[in-house]
Amino acid sequence: MGLLQIRELNKRFGGVKALDCVDLEVNQGEIVGLIGPNGAGKSTLFAVITAYLKSDNGNVIFNGINLQGLRTDQIAKLGMVRTFQIVRPIKEMNVRENIMVGAFINTNKVSLANKIAYETLDFIGMSEKSEYNISALTLADKKRLEVGRALATSPKLILLDEVMAGLTPSESHDAVKLIRRINDELKITLIIVEHVMEVIMPLSKKIVVLDYGAKIAEGTPHEVSINPLVISAYLGSFDAKSGVKLHDSTS
Ligand code: ADP
Ligand code: MG
Repeated sequence: MGLLQIRELNKRFGGVKALDCVDLEVNQGEIVGLIGPNGAGKSTLFAVITAYLKSDNGNVIFNGINLQGLRTDQIAKLGMVRTFQIVRPIKEMNVRENIMVGAFINTNKVSLANKIAYETLDFIGMSEKSEYNISALTLADKKRLEVGRALATSPKLILLDEVMAGLTPSESHDAVKLIRRINDELKITLIIVEHVMEVIMPLSKKIVVLDYGAKIAEGTPHEVSINPLVISAYLGSFDAKSGVKLHDSTS
């Protein structure tokens, strides 16, 4: 079942075409990997479809509703939220209160928002840190908190922007486990931007590749990993068998 349909989405920043006529279809329950070199337009795509940025033209249909003219909070209420590549916790609030911000999308009752925050903290494994200051958190915890705040909005679709960037291999492994549980247990659909191919390939049912704002490929992880266009634009000497990207063309 189609949950998200993006049609001919365009976004220009001066001379830069950040999104060039992007079409994308995401089905209910899928995990879709969104990859491409730095500057390809991945974060811009997330920003535009959640109305942090206005598109120049194009259409976004979410759960059968055209999002044209809707604000970010209205889109969150419909069930689509994003996380940020650079985490954005509210420093004046503790961990639990940050998660309550997500819950307030659907309720103005403090007691209910608090209950949702506790349940979410339990799900993401941060219960014992509920009253921590943000400054006491590791980067991995901040990223986890960002996911928690998204979860507290009761989403149908979460857009994860590089939640594993900067994490140790063991922290990344925990993040992958959390993503799988979000998909399996909560039945939430996800679009994931990630540079580590060993992570994104096994996690995703479908991979979409952006380059200079345009979608250059779409398919199963295997199809994409052997696509010459994708190899030359992004993957470089990627080993399709082992799933290991041998050379990082983006750094
Ligand atoms: P990615 O997330 O794939 O690395 P971005 O979406 O951040 O790429 O950026 C796509 C292009 O748009 C880049 O060329 C970037 O410099 C440009 N860009 C992104 N955001 C802005 C902005 N707010 N103002 C001007 N240019 C921007
Ligand atoms: Mg980005």
